[in-house]
Amino acid sequence: MANPNQEIKYTKLFINNEFVESVSKKTFETFNPANGKKLADISEGFKEDVDIAVKAAQKAFKRGSEWRNTTATHRADLMLKLADLIARDIEILANLETLDNGKPYESAKGDLFFCTMLLRYYAGYADKAHGRTIPTEPNTFSYVRKEPIGVCGQIIPWNYPALMTVFKIAPILATGCVTILKPAEQTPLTALYIASLTKEAGIPDGVINVITGFGPTAGAAISMHRDIRKVAFTGSTEIGKLIMEAAAKSNLKKVSLELGGKSPLVIFDDVNLDEVVPLAQEAIFTNSGQICCGGSRTFVQENIYDEFVKRTVELAKKRKVGCPFDSNTQQGPQVDKITFDKILTYIDYGKQDGAKLEFGGKRWGNEGFFVEPTVFSNVTDDMRIATDEIFGPVQSIIKFKTLDEVIERANNTEYGLAAGIFTKNLNNAITFANSVEAGTVWINCYNATSVTSPFGGYKLSGIGRELGEEGINLYLETKSVSINLAANN
Ligand code: ADP
Repeated sequence: MANPNQEIKYTKLFINNEFVESVSKKTFETFNPANGKKLADISEGFKEDVDIAVKAAQKAFKRGSEWRNTTATHRADLMLKLADLIARDIEILANLETLDNGKPYESAKGDLFFCTMLLRYYAGYADKAHGRTIPTEPNTFSYVRKEPIGVCGQIIPWNYPALMTVFKIAPILATGCVTILKPAEQTPLTALYIASLTKEAGIPDGVINVITGFGPTAGAAISMHRDIRKVAFTGSTEIGKLIMEAAAKSNLKKVSLELGGKSPLVIFDDVNLDEVVPLAQEAIFTNSGQICCGGSRTFVQENIYDEFVKRTVELAKKRKVGCPFDSNTQQGPQVDKITFDKILTYIDYGKQDGAKLEFGGKRWGNEGFFVEPTVFSNVTDDMRIATDEIFGPVQSIIKFKTLDEVIERANNTEYGLAAGIFTKNLNNAITFANSVEAGTVWINCYNATSVTSPFGGYKLSGIGRELGEEGINLYLETKSVSINLAANN
């Protein structure tokens, strides 16, 4: 049940299957964004704590260790057990997520359900990292092995704290790697709780380590570490560049990045507006607009443009903003004051740049970090609200005429995470899907992410793909072995 008084049990670093204070004994505060009140003091990790966690992870990954001797099939069992434990504690986890992040309780539960699906799906991959045999010389037998990379570092953001934790640890467990994971400083609670469940599931010491702390200290210690062989990062493009630079400067660790977006959602005049107006709005307002693949450029064909704007505004007026523990709330607060201020600044830019503010545009209520659902019309491609990632509940509606023109304009961005199109015309849909520079395309749906489909970005939106088979390959090395069959020994 939704419970804003959920007890917070875990506030310390998780290293070697134990909750421990940081070496410095420093702590930082985590807040409830719905009212700005402190939730807990959290241990603040620094480089020395990352070093200790790396040592524990190295020991767990050492040849002959319990983890290295665990069969792939048993790793799958452990993952299924972890999925069961998340399902058992789904209400506790959803309460912690709602307290820490501000997302509506039912949405948090939805995220956690996705976590269980992902663990179960990747459990199926654990014993299927098949190599292959390769034809080379007549007297040679050659084969390819897939091996775990080893010690990984994983840095995650605050918009889907539990989901991102499981996005990262599920392939670690499936491939037999080990990790040092750093949650975002705004939202450490569910990663720590999930860490406790990994221990309960029977995952050996040192396989999963969680270091809470800040980016420039704990995060940078991970990306710079010489004994970490791979870093996976989800967050802003700006920090993604720093991660890649640090990886290059230290030990050329492998890098995968899932970064920002400015995704186009194109709506043709042949659609049923009763269905599409709500879907287009949910595409950007979901999770208070704090979603990297949100449909943040709503392109609408010119002859339905006015009607589309009218209906969108009517819908925005009805959107229920409020306490994320209330069952009818659709939109909770933004995660913190920094993001809240940034969104209001962009709303000002929209007005300054000549867009028409149709609805919203202000703070909602007088405590916490709520922003009114906001709709702009008459948006043009060069305005800052059409070029930059806002990460808030701001819908920018842009007019277009033809397919060719909208493809060109959709691609006129450095981002390339996702794109969507609504139309009954199959040719238009497929031509758009084939032409748009984006890692994911949704036709007549949006944000329909599935554990089975690879997810990631073109261009500034990232490197590599998570989920699906591609997500497993991010954590595997490829080894070629050749045997001389003519040798006399
Ligand atoms: P957002 O803009 O969504 O807050 P960020 O990219 O700033 O996202 O943060 C995502 C994650 O990256 C967080 O865990 C944050 O602590 C971490 N981070 C921020 N700066 C750095 C850095 N210089 N090095 C490593 N990690 C960082």
